[in-house]
Amino acid sequence: MTTSDSTALALLQQRCPRCHQGPLFTTSALHVTRFAEMPADCPVCGQHYEPEPGFFWGAMYISYAFSTAIMLITGFLVYHLLHDPAVWVYVTSVAVAAVLLTPLSLRYSRTVLLYLFGGIDYDTRYRAGAAPATRR
Ligand SMILES: [Zn+2]
Repeated sequence: MTTSDSTALALLQQRCPRCHQGPLFTTSALHVTRFAEMPADCPVCGQHYEPEPGFFWGAMYISYAFSTAIMLITGFLVYHLLHDPAVWVYVTSVAVAAVLLTPLSLRYSRTVLLYLFGGIDYDTRYRAGAAPATRR
């Protein structure tokens, strides 16, 4: 497993905000029934992922923004690629895109929320090649 100092890269890879190594989710996004499962703590540094009970309820607001963007982009693509088809084509395309991208939307909304409002900073002791860090 590689470590990156880049917070943006760690966010895109859905890694722990503290060590940039531990995965935030236990299964693949393609796992239909368990795509939202998260371990309680980071398996690498032991950071607790949920700062307070109910923290991830706030991810709904970010997920709403993602869903809106998915629907607007899908509608824009349908309009330009299919040359303004019938309304049922828009509705079907937007619904299919929204459902298919639900796992990514949910996972990235939780990840963004944790990085922005989790109050967890990157700890350079976990940098690749550094001496093994001890748990705080
Ligand atoms: Zn960690």
